Amino acid sequence: MSAIILSIGDELILGQTLDTNSAWISQQLAAVGCPVLAHLTVADDQRAIERIIGGAIHQCSWLIISGGLGPTVDDLTRQALAAALHQPLELNQEWLDELDRFFKQRNRPMPQANRIQAMIPRTSRMLFNTCGTAAGIEATFGPDNGLAVHPCRVFAMPGVPKEMKAMFTCDILPAIADAGGGAVILSRTLHTFGAGESRIAEMLGPLMDRARNPSVGTTVSGGQVSLRINARFPSRAEAQQRLDQTADACQQALGHLIFGCDDQTLQQVTLELLARSSPDATLTVAESCTGGLLGKLITDTPGSSAYFHQGWITYSNQAKNRLLDVPQSLLNQHGAVSEPVAMAMAQCARLRANATHALSITGIAGPDGGTPAKPVGMVCIALAHPHGCQTYTFHFAGDREMVRDRSAKTALYLLRYHLLNQPLPQ
Ligand code: AMP
Ligand code: MG
Repeated sequence: MSAIILSIGDELILGQTLDTNSAWISQQLAAVGCPVLAHLTVADDQRAIERIIGGAIHQCSWLIISGGLGPTVDDLTRQALAAALHQPLELNQEWLDELDRFFKQRNRPMPQANRIQAMIPRTSRMLFNTCGTAAGIEATFGPDNGLAVHPCRVFAMPGVPKEMKAMFTCDILPAIADAGGGAVILSRTLHTFGAGESRIAEMLGPLMDRARNPSVGTTVSGGQVSLRINARFPSRAEAQQRLDQTADACQQALGHLIFGCDDQTLQQVTLELLARSSPDATLTVAESCTGGLLGKLITDTPGSSAYFHQGWITYSNQAKNRLLDVPQSLLNQHGAVSEPVAMAMAQCARLRANATHALSITGIAGPDGGTPAKPVGMVCIALAHPHGCQTYTFHFAGDREMVRDRSAKTALYLLRYHLLNQPLPQ
């Protein structure tokens, strides 16, 4: 038992509308244990739709279509489905009556164009639309009509996400869940920061084997490597237990590199640790090349005012000197991008804000300003805390946006390891 999801519409092909329907349908199917073989997208082109339907029905037991059921001439899904079934379109009186009622209630005459929405291929079934004018269509291809060796049930729904979701939930998902496969898929995402994707894969070793169930795969976004664990088992209880076991095994393999799961963010987890470290713990920032990005990340978390009261953006040497007392001699001797200057910024910010912890960042975000000794991407970060101050130098790859993003997140990562009282991973 498997499904193919087909999205239809020129706006999807042109990249003007993001195909959110397929993602949502996939999640629903996963919850009832129905594996999805492919997401396909096709333009509003009748022959192309017909060909794709004709191919897909031989590869899956469920073909889930959305889009192309509107009243206008560019909506051609019903015509393509009728052609694939070798059946003519017929008027469905029940839906025509519904359409009449729909327009009467709104005191509007029904435009002639809407009549097409009551046409469905002969031998197919009409699916009720509780929130729009496009009825859905259900048809079967299989040995009974000589159109396929194995039966494939095809559902065509309107593209409007709200209408599609109502129809899918009411008429389609229960049928797929009833047909079983009898499996449940449960998923969890674990987030890491501080190591690249290949290093993470190396540390996970056989946990990432393609044939493994639960499966473990990685995705990368903004320097954060996330592990997606999917467990597919006959019962929810077994899926849950095996998912937990695999998550534990990943935790064992990666240790503190894993900072959270699912919706948790690095900043949120780090601030929670800070709050737990002492009842009066507070954090301040002194930023140069990140221009306030670290402060932004910290204040992304609701309730951050309990730990964060103020910070500084000191972009020029003069500002570092005037606002954070960084001695001119230190700037002259080491340059603004140096560990001594980062340390002076963090220590002064910590005292001025009367905070327990301070993070400072000074670096070369590029594209200009690099030298052989201090290339673009070189960033110095300091962490001042009640027992001292540590400084670090990093060389980040990428463009200006990436360097700034990694700098701010790395500062949080350093604070997190400090609060965990753990050495940084090698
Ligand atoms: P249609 O049923 O083709 O008339 O689609 C109606 C509207 O639904 C389109 O104009 C899009 O804005 C939206 N839509 C269609 N397909 C999708 C999809 N796969 N994901 C998100 N929105 C969609
Ligand atoms: Mg359309």
